[in-house]
Amino acid sequence: MVTESLKEVEKKVEEACKRAGRERSEVTLIAVSKTKPVEMLQEVYDTGVRDFGENKVQEMMDKYEVMPKDIHWHMLGHLQRNKVKYLMGKVALIHSVDSLRLAQEISAQSVKHEVTTDILIEVNIAGEASKFGTTREEAIALVEAAAKLPNIHICGLMTIAPYVENPEDNRKYFQQIRQLSVDIKRKNIDNVDMHVLSMGMSGDYEVAIEEGATMVRIGTGIFGARNYNI
Ligand SMILES: *Cc1c(COP(=O)(O)O)cnc(C)c1O
Repeated sequence: MVTESLKEVEKKVEEACKRAGRERSEVTLIAVSKTKPVEMLQEVYDTGVRDFGENKVQEMMDKYEVMPKDIHWHMLGHLQRNKVKYLMGKVALIHSVDSLRLAQEISAQSVKHEVTTDILIEVNIAGEASKFGTTREEAIALVEAAAKLPNIHICGLMTIAPYVENPEDNRKYFQQIRQLSVDIKRKNIDNVDMHVLSMGMSGDYEVAIEEGATMVRIGTGIFGARNYNI
């Protein structure tokens, strides 16, 4: 069943790439597996997916222990500084860096563990009160300050667009964050390369790809609805 929905998503990703004149290889599909059992992750893994996203440190660590070691684990959720240490050397990319204090902790722990950690700056592009992430204005200052820290590498931006019925409503936000990414790139800041644009979820990933997403984060569309009561 998971395999079927994954095939469907994969087809839509391919079609969106085609519409946008982009190569399929430019877009990484992240299977967002939070709350789902490892049996389901394994099924998705067996079809060839190697990028999985989680939003809780403990859950990611539990799955990391039992799943194959060639998986790229993506931390998507709001991250407490006291949990950063557990991710060192295990996480492929932290998408949710929204403060200098968090960037400093990731840097300090990376130095301690002798690793370099790739991060994205999370931008609250629609300015929703319920969401984490920096404002557009703060994002530039945060990138500039974080770029000076050792053992972290800023790879781009991430956003969680508003929940909407019609994905077209988010197109303007995807355009805005892409523009922000271009503006930051033009500043040629050392240690910043802005090649990743993590945007688009189950409800709007096709529009996000049309607007330049290089990573889409898809949970429900692959694994089905989440049940938080189990
Ligand atoms: C849960 C989650 C997703 C996936 O959401 P779906 O709507 O189920 O695709 C993507 N990004 C983040 C940051 C998430 O927390």
